[in-house]
Amino acid sequence: MNMNLAKRTTLIKESPTFKVLSKANVLKKAGKNVIVLAAGEPDFNTPKHICNAAIEAINQGKTKYTQVAGTIELRQAISDKFKRENNLSYTIDEIIVSSGGKHSIYNVLQAIVDEGDEVVIPAPYWVSYPDMVLLAGGRPIIVECGIKNSFKITPNQIKKAITDKTKAIFLNSPSNPTGMIYSENELIGIAEILKNNPNIFIISDDLYEHLLFEEKSFKNILNVAPNLLNQTIIINGVSKAYAMTGWRIGYAACKNKVLIKAMENLQSQSTSNPCSISQYAAMAALNSGTSCVAPMLKEFIKRHNYVVERLNKINGIKCLRAQGAFYAFFDCTEAIENLYHSKIIAAPNDIEFTNYLLDCYLVAGVAGSAFGLNNFMRISFATSMDELSDGLDRIEKALIK
Ligand code: GLU
Repeated sequence: MNMNLAKRTTLIKESPTFKVLSKANVLKKAGKNVIVLAAGEPDFNTPKHICNAAIEAINQGKTKYTQVAGTIELRQAISDKFKRENNLSYTIDEIIVSSGGKHSIYNVLQAIVDEGDEVVIPAPYWVSYPDMVLLAGGRPIIVECGIKNSFKITPNQIKKAITDKTKAIFLNSPSNPTGMIYSENELIGIAEILKNNPNIFIISDDLYEHLLFEEKSFKNILNVAPNLLNQTIIINGVSKAYAMTGWRIGYAACKNKVLIKAMENLQSQSTSNPCSISQYAAMAALNSGTSCVAPMLKEFIKRHNYVVERLNKINGIKCLRAQGAFYAFFDCTEAIENLYHSKIIAAPNDIEFTNYLLDCYLVAGVAGSAFGLNNFMRISFATSMDELSDGLDRIEKALIK
Protein backbone atom coordinates (compact mmCIF):
# COMPACT_ATOMS: atom_id res chain seq x y z
CA MET A 1 0.00 0.00 0.00
CA ASN A 2 1.24 3.46 -0.85
CA MET A 3 1.90 5.11 2.50
CA ASN A 4 2.75 8.56 1.14
CA LEU A 5 0.67 10.90 3.21
CA ALA A 6 -0.77 14.22 2.11
CA LYS A 7 1.79 17.02 1.99
CA ARG A 8 -0.15 19.06 4.53
CA THR A 9 0.58 16.49 7.23
CA THR A 10 4.30 17.08 6.72
CA LEU A 11 3.95 20.84 7.16
CA ILE A 12 3.00 20.58 10.79
CA LYS A 13 4.25 18.96 13.97
CA GLU A 14 2.51 17.51 16.99
CA SER A 15 1.18 20.22 19.31
CA PRO A 16 4.11 20.83 21.69
CA THR A 17 1.82 21.22 24.69
CA PHE A 18 0.24 17.83 24.12
CA LYS A 19 3.60 16.28 23.23
CA VAL A 20 5.04 17.17 26.64
CA LEU A 21 1.84 16.09 28.32
CA SER A 22 1.88 12.67 26.70
CA LYS A 23 5.58 12.16 27.53
CA ALA A 24 4.84 13.08 31.16
CA ASN A 25 1.90 10.68 31.20
CA VAL A 26 4.04 7.83 29.88
CA LEU A 27 6.52 8.47 32.71
CA LYS A 28 3.66 8.61 35.22
CA LYS A 29 2.26 5.30 33.95
CA ALA A 30 5.72 3.81 34.42
CA GLY A 31 5.41 4.73 38.10
CA LYS A 32 7.51 7.93 38.11
CA ASN A 33 6.47 10.78 40.34
CA VAL A 34 6.22 13.48 37.66
CA ILE A 35 5.14 17.05 38.40
CA VAL A 36 3.25 18.20 35.33
CA LEU A 37 3.30 21.96 34.80
CA ALA A 38 2.86 21.62 31.06
CA ALA A 39 -0.72 22.03 29.86
CA GLY A 40 -2.87 25.04 30.50
CA GLU A 41 -5.62 23.18 32.25
CA PRO A 42 -7.27 24.28 35.51
CA ASP A 43 -6.82 21.65 38.22
CA PHE A 44 -10.27 22.51 39.67
CA ASN A 45 -13.31 20.36 39.03
CA THR A 46 -15.98 21.80 36.77
CA PRO A 47 -18.44 23.58 39.12
CA LYS A 48 -21.30 21.36 40.33
CA HIS A 49 -24.19 23.31 38.77
CA ILE A 50 -22.55 22.91 35.34
CA CYS A 51 -22.07 19.15 35.81
CA ASN A 52 -25.68 18.85 37.00
CA ALA A 53 -26.93 20.57 33.84
CA ALA A 54 -25.05 17.98 31.78
CA ILE A 55 -26.51 15.09 33.80
CA GLU A 56 -29.97 16.53 33.36
CA ALA A 57 -29.38 16.85 29.61
CA ILE A 58 -28.46 13.16 29.46
CA ASN A 59 -31.48 12.14 31.51
CA GLN A 60 -33.75 14.21 29.27
CA GLY A 61 -32.39 12.47 26.18
CA LYS A 62 -30.63 15.55 24.83
CA THR A 63 -28.11 13.22 23.31
CA LYS A 64 -28.95 13.64 19.63
CA TYR A 65 -27.57 15.85 16.87
CA THR A 66 -28.11 19.55 17.42
CA GLN A 67 -27.91 22.39 14.91
CA VAL A 68 -24.42 22.27 13.38
CA ALA A 69 -23.62 25.77 14.68
CA GLY A 70 -24.80 24.90 18.21
CA THR A 71 -28.25 24.94 19.80
CA ILE A 72 -30.30 28.11 19.51
CA GLU A 73 -30.41 28.27 23.33
CA LEU A 74 -26.63 28.09 23.71
CA ARG A 75 -26.06 30.69 21.02
CA GLN A 76 -28.63 32.88 22.77
CA ALA A 77 -26.71 32.40 26.05
CA ILE A 78 -23.51 33.41 24.23
CA SER A 79 -25.24 36.44 22.72
CA ASP A 80 -26.47 37.43 26.21
CA LYS A 81 -22.99 36.92 27.63
CA PHE A 82 -21.49 39.22 24.98
CA LYS A 83 -24.03 41.92 25.84
CA ARG A 84 -23.69 41.53 29.62
CA GLU A 85 -19.95 41.03 29.99
CA ASN A 86 -18.45 42.65 26.89
CA ASN A 87 -21.00 45.26 25.83
CA LEU A 88 -21.04 43.69 22.35
CA SER A 89 -24.11 42.82 20.29
CA TYR A 90 -24.20 39.61 18.27
CA THR A 91 -27.30 37.86 16.98
CA ILE A 92 -27.37 34.08 17.02
CA ASP A 93 -26.61 33.83 13.30
CA GLU A 94 -23.42 35.79 13.97
CA ILE A 95 -22.23 33.11 16.40
CA ILE A 96 -20.98 29.56 15.86
CA VAL A 97 -20.15 27.03 18.56
CA SER A 98 -17.35 24.52 17.92
CA SER A 99 -15.50 21.74 19.73
CA GLY A 100 -13.24 24.03 21.77
CA GLY A 101 -11.69 27.44 21.14
CA LYS A 102 -8.95 25.63 19.21
CA HIS A 103 -11.51 24.26 16.77
CA SER A 104 -13.08 27.72 16.41
CA ILE A 105 -9.69 29.16 15.40
CA TYR A 106 -9.07 26.26 13.02
CA ASN A 107 -12.43 26.82 11.31
CA VAL A 108 -11.85 30.57 11.04
CA LEU A 109 -8.52 30.03 9.30
CA GLN A 110 -9.96 27.37 6.99
CA ALA A 111 -12.71 29.83 6.08
CA ILE A 112 -10.56 32.90 5.37
CA VAL A 113 -7.03 31.81 4.36
CA ASP A 114 -6.22 30.96 0.75
CA GLU A 115 -3.00 29.50 -0.62
CA GLY A 116 -0.20 32.03 -0.04
CA ASP A 117 -2.20 34.38 2.20
CA GLU A 118 -0.29 35.82 5.12
CA VAL A 119 -1.38 35.85 8.74
CA VAL A 120 0.47 38.09 11.19
CA ILE A 121 1.28 36.33 14.46
CA PRO A 122 2.88 38.29 17.32
CA ALA A 123 5.48 36.12 19.09
CA PRO A 124 5.44 34.70 21.73
CA TYR A 125 2.25 33.10 20.43
CA TRP A 126 0.06 30.21 21.42
CA VAL A 127 1.63 27.07 19.95
CA SER A 128 -1.08 26.17 17.45
CA TYR A 129 -1.51 29.45 15.55
CA PRO A 130 1.33 28.98 13.00
CA ASP A 131 0.59 25.33 12.28
CA MET A 132 -3.11 26.06 11.78
CA VAL A 133 -2.20 28.80 9.30
CA LEU A 134 0.04 26.32 7.44
CA LEU A 135 -2.76 23.76 7.34
CA ALA A 136 -4.97 26.36 5.67
CA GLY A 137 -2.27 26.90 3.00
CA GLY A 138 -1.22 30.26 4.43
CA ARG A 139 2.08 31.77 5.53
CA PRO A 140 2.53 32.59 9.21
CA ILE A 141 4.29 35.95 9.48
CA ILE A 142 5.91 35.80 12.88
CA VAL A 143 6.65 39.18 14.44
CA GLU A 144 8.98 39.02 17.43
CA CYS A 145 7.69 41.18 20.26
CA GLY A 146 10.53 41.72 22.65
CA ILE A 147 10.54 41.67 26.41
CA LYS A 148 11.04 45.48 26.34
CA ASN A 149 7.45 45.91 25.17
CA SER A 150 6.27 43.15 27.53
CA PHE A 151 6.01 40.79 24.53
CA LYS A 152 3.30 42.89 22.88
CA ILE A 153 3.17 43.93 19.23
CA THR A 154 3.40 47.65 18.46
CA PRO A 155 1.44 49.58 15.79
CA ASN A 156 4.71 50.16 13.98
CA GLN A 157 5.53 46.47 13.87
CA ILE A 158 2.07 45.76 12.47
CA LYS A 159 2.50 48.44 9.82
CA LYS A 160 5.78 46.87 8.74
CA ALA A 161 4.36 43.34 8.68
CA ILE A 162 1.36 44.16 6.49
CA THR A 163 1.62 43.37 2.76
CA ASP A 164 -1.01 43.06 0.04
CA LYS A 165 -1.21 39.37 0.96
CA THR A 166 -2.10 39.93 4.63
CA LYS A 167 -5.37 38.23 5.41
CA ALA A 168 -5.49 38.34 9.20
CA ILE A 169 -3.72 39.19 12.43
CA PHE A 170 -3.95 37.44 15.78
CA LEU A 171 -4.42 39.34 19.03
CA ASN A 172 -4.42 37.39 22.30
CA SER A 173 -4.87 39.23 25.57
CA PRO A 174 -4.36 38.05 28.29
CA SER A 175 -1.73 36.14 26.40
CA ASN A 176 -0.90 32.49 26.45
CA PRO A 177 2.04 32.07 27.19
CA THR A 178 3.13 35.48 28.58
CA GLY A 179 0.09 36.49 30.66
CA MET A 180 0.47 40.07 29.37
CA ILE A 181 -2.50 42.33 28.64
CA TYR A 182 -2.83 45.03 26.00
CA SER A 183 -3.83 48.32 27.64
CA GLU A 184 -6.66 50.37 26.16
CA ASN A 185 -4.14 52.83 24.73
CA GLU A 186 -2.13 50.07 23.14
CA LEU A 187 -5.28 48.66 21.56
CA ILE A 188 -6.24 52.11 20.30
CA GLY A 189 -2.82 52.41 18.63
CA ILE A 190 -3.21 49.01 16.96
CA ALA A 191 -6.77 49.83 15.90
CA GLU A 192 -5.55 53.00 14.17
CA ILE A 193 -3.45 50.87 11.79
CA LEU A 194 -6.05 48.17 11.25
CA LYS A 195 -8.92 50.52 10.49
CA ASN A 196 -6.98 51.64 7.42
CA ASN A 197 -6.81 48.00 6.33
CA PRO A 198 -10.45 46.90 6.35
CA ASN A 199 -9.64 43.73 4.39
CA ILE A 200 -7.53 42.36 7.21
CA PHE A 201 -9.41 40.19 9.68
CA ILE A 202 -8.57 40.62 13.36
CA ILE A 203 -8.77 37.34 15.25
CA SER A 204 -9.21 38.32 18.87
CA ASP A 205 -8.49 35.28 21.05
CA ASP A 206 -10.22 36.17 24.33
CA LEU A 207 -10.04 32.77 26.05
CA TYR A 208 -8.45 34.18 29.21
CA GLU A 209 -10.71 37.24 29.56
CA HIS A 210 -11.86 36.32 33.09
CA LEU A 211 -8.40 35.55 34.43
CA LEU A 212 -7.17 39.05 35.21
CA PHE A 213 -4.90 39.59 38.22
CA GLU A 214 -5.53 43.28 38.74
CA GLU A 215 -8.86 44.94 39.49
CA LYS A 216 -9.55 45.85 35.88
CA SER A 217 -12.33 45.04 33.51
CA PHE A 218 -11.51 43.14 30.36
CA LYS A 219 -11.18 45.08 27.12
CA ASN A 220 -10.71 43.69 23.64
CA ILE A 221 -10.05 45.69 20.49
CA LEU A 222 -13.77 46.15 19.74
CA ASN A 223 -14.35 47.77 23.12
CA VAL A 224 -11.91 50.55 22.21
CA ALA A 225 -12.56 50.64 18.45
CA PRO A 226 -16.16 49.68 17.58
CA ASN A 227 -15.46 50.80 14.00
CA LEU A 228 -13.53 47.52 13.54
CA LEU A 229 -16.69 45.47 14.08
CA ASN A 230 -16.97 44.15 10.52
CA GLN A 231 -13.38 42.89 10.33
CA THR A 232 -13.10 41.38 13.83
CA ILE A 233 -13.73 37.79 14.82
CA ILE A 234 -14.01 37.15 18.55
CA ILE A 235 -12.92 33.73 19.78
CA ASN A 236 -13.85 32.53 23.23
CA GLY A 237 -14.82 29.38 25.11
CA VAL A 238 -15.67 27.94 28.49
CA SER A 239 -12.52 25.81 29.01
CA LYS A 240 -10.27 28.16 30.96
CA ALA A 241 -12.71 30.24 33.00
CA TYR A 242 -15.05 27.43 34.04
CA ALA A 243 -12.50 24.59 34.31
CA MET A 244 -14.14 22.82 31.35
CA THR A 245 -11.19 21.83 29.14
CA GLY A 246 -12.43 18.30 28.47
CA TRP A 247 -15.96 19.37 27.52
CA ARG A 248 -14.63 20.99 24.32
CA ILE A 249 -16.84 24.04 23.83
CA GLY A 250 -15.55 27.16 22.11
CA TYR A 251 -17.25 29.77 19.98
CA ALA A 252 -16.63 32.44 17.38
CA ALA A 253 -18.61 35.61 16.76
CA CYS A 254 -18.46 37.94 13.79
CA LYS A 255 -20.75 40.48 12.15
CA ASN A 256 -19.86 38.93 8.80
CA LYS A 257 -22.64 36.33 8.51
CA VAL A 258 -21.15 34.92 5.30
CA LEU A 259 -18.02 33.98 7.25
CA ILE A 260 -20.06 32.37 10.03
CA LYS A 261 -22.03 30.43 7.42
CA ALA A 262 -18.80 29.28 5.73
CA MET A 263 -17.54 28.04 9.10
CA GLU A 264 -20.83 26.24 9.60
CA ASN A 265 -20.47 24.56 6.21
CA LEU A 266 -16.94 23.44 7.11
CA GLN A 267 -18.21 22.11 10.40
CA SER A 268 -21.18 20.35 8.77
CA GLN A 269 -18.73 18.47 6.53
CA SER A 270 -16.31 17.57 9.31
CA THR A 271 -17.35 17.33 12.95
CA SER A 272 -21.08 18.26 12.74
CA ASN A 273 -22.33 19.81 15.99
CA PRO A 274 -20.15 20.01 19.09
CA CYS A 275 -21.13 17.45 21.76
CA SER A 276 -24.79 18.05 22.68
CA ILE A 277 -24.29 17.34 26.39
CA SER A 278 -21.34 19.73 26.59
CA GLN A 279 -23.46 22.40 24.97
CA TYR A 280 -26.04 22.13 27.79
CA ALA A 281 -23.22 22.33 30.32
CA ALA A 282 -21.76 25.41 28.60
CA MET A 283 -25.17 27.06 28.61
CA ALA A 284 -25.45 26.53 32.37
CA ALA A 285 -21.96 27.97 32.80
CA LEU A 286 -22.59 31.12 30.78
CA ASN A 287 -26.10 31.74 32.12
CA SER A 288 -24.83 31.53 35.71
CA GLY A 289 -22.37 34.38 35.20
CA THR A 290 -18.88 34.47 36.62
CA SER A 291 -19.35 34.12 40.37
CA CYS A 292 -17.99 30.54 40.29
CA VAL A 293 -14.87 31.80 38.50
CA ALA A 294 -13.95 34.17 41.34
CA PRO A 295 -12.63 31.57 43.85
CA MET A 296 -10.52 29.92 41.13
CA LEU A 297 -9.12 33.29 40.07
CA LYS A 298 -8.25 34.09 43.69
CA GLU A 299 -6.26 30.87 43.86
CA PHE A 300 -4.49 31.58 40.53
CA ILE A 301 -3.43 35.00 41.82
CA LYS A 302 -1.99 33.46 44.99
CA ARG A 303 -0.11 30.88 42.97
CA HIS A 304 1.14 33.48 40.49
CA ASN A 305 2.69 35.53 43.29
CA TYR A 306 4.29 32.45 44.80
CA VAL A 307 5.65 31.11 41.49
CA VAL A 308 7.11 34.41 40.27
CA GLU A 309 8.80 35.07 43.59
CA ARG A 310 10.34 31.62 43.73
CA LEU A 311 11.44 31.60 40.08
CA ASN A 312 13.25 34.91 40.49
CA LYS A 313 15.22 33.46 43.42
CA ILE A 314 16.55 30.65 41.25
CA ASN A 315 19.99 31.21 39.81
CA GLY A 316 19.89 31.91 36.05
CA ILE A 317 16.14 32.53 35.77
CA LYS A 318 14.27 35.80 35.26
CA CYS A 319 10.51 35.99 35.35
CA LEU A 320 8.27 39.00 34.70
CA ARG A 321 5.02 39.28 36.64
CA ALA A 322 2.02 38.36 34.51
CA GLN A 323 -1.24 40.30 34.41
CA GLY A 324 -3.56 37.42 33.65
CA ALA A 325 -4.03 33.79 32.45
CA PHE A 326 -2.22 31.09 34.45
CA TYR A 327 1.28 30.82 33.06
CA ALA A 328 4.75 31.88 34.11
CA PHE A 329 6.90 32.49 31.04
CA PHE A 330 10.50 32.98 32.06
CA ASP A 331 13.93 33.66 30.65
CA CYS A 332 16.32 30.74 31.21
CA THR A 333 19.24 32.00 29.08
CA GLU A 334 21.72 32.08 31.94
CA ALA A 335 20.58 28.79 33.44
CA ILE A 336 20.88 27.13 30.02
CA GLU A 337 24.39 28.51 29.47
CA ASN A 338 25.52 27.35 32.91
CA LEU A 339 24.22 23.83 32.31
CA TYR A 340 25.78 23.71 28.86
CA HIS A 341 29.18 24.89 30.10
CA SER A 342 29.04 22.32 32.89
CA LYS A 343 28.35 19.69 30.19
CA ILE A 344 25.06 18.75 31.81
CA ILE A 345 23.05 19.46 28.67
CA ALA A 346 24.33 18.72 25.15
CA ALA A 347 23.26 21.95 23.44
CA PRO A 348 22.52 25.46 24.71
CA ASN A 349 18.82 25.64 23.97
CA ASP A 350 15.47 25.43 25.72
CA ILE A 351 14.51 22.05 24.23
CA GLU A 352 17.58 20.43 25.83
CA PHE A 353 16.83 22.34 29.00
CA THR A 354 13.19 21.27 29.33
CA ASN A 355 14.09 17.67 28.38
CA TYR A 356 16.74 17.70 31.11
CA LEU A 357 14.21 18.93 33.67
CA LEU A 358 11.74 16.23 32.68
CA ASP A 359 14.18 13.33 32.24
CA CYS A 360 16.36 13.98 35.27
CA TYR A 361 14.08 15.85 37.72
CA LEU A 362 10.65 14.70 36.55
CA VAL A 363 9.22 18.18 36.15
CA ALA A 364 7.38 18.95 32.91
CA GLY A 365 7.10 22.40 31.35
CA VAL A 366 7.01 23.61 27.74
CA ALA A 367 10.06 25.06 25.95
CA GLY A 368 9.78 28.73 24.97
CA SER A 369 10.68 27.95 21.35
CA ALA A 370 7.31 26.18 21.03
CA PHE A 371 5.83 29.68 21.49
CA GLY A 372 8.37 31.32 19.18
CA LEU A 373 10.94 32.41 21.77
CA ASN A 374 14.07 30.37 22.37
CA ASN A 375 15.71 30.14 25.81
CA PHE A 376 12.44 30.64 27.63
CA MET A 377 10.17 28.16 29.34
CA ARG A 378 6.47 28.13 30.23
CA ILE A 379 5.03 26.53 33.31
CA SER A 380 1.35 26.51 34.14
CA PHE A 381 0.25 27.34 37.66
CA ALA A 382 -3.19 25.85 37.12
CA THR A 383 -1.78 23.18 39.43
CA SER A 384 -2.05 22.70 43.20
CA MET A 385 0.25 24.65 45.54
CA ASP A 386 1.83 21.40 46.74
CA GLU A 387 2.72 20.38 43.22
CA LEU A 388 3.99 23.85 42.37
CA SER A 389 6.17 23.91 45.43
CA ASP A 390 7.57 20.45 44.69
CA GLY A 391 8.07 21.35 41.00
CA LEU A 392 9.93 24.56 41.85
CA ASP A 393 12.11 22.70 44.38
CA ARG A 394 13.10 20.36 41.59
CA ILE A 395 13.89 23.16 39.12
CA GLU A 396 15.97 24.84 41.82
CA LYS A 397 17.86 21.63 42.51
CA ALA A 398 18.42 20.97 38.82
CA LEU A 399 20.08 24.36 38.42
CA ILE A 400 22.29 24.29 41.49
CA LYS A 401 24.38 21.47 40.09
N1 GLU B 1 -4.26 25.85 25.48
C1 GLU B 1 -3.65 25.00 26.46
C2 GLU B 1 -2.17 25.24 26.53
O1 GLU B 1 -1.64 26.13 25.92
C3 GLU B 1 -4.05 23.56 26.26
C4 GLU B 1 -3.25 22.74 25.34
C5 GLU B 1 -3.33 23.16 23.90
O2 GLU B 1 -4.39 23.05 23.32
O3 GLU B 1 -2.30 23.63 23.42
O4 GLU B 1 -1.51 24.55 27.27
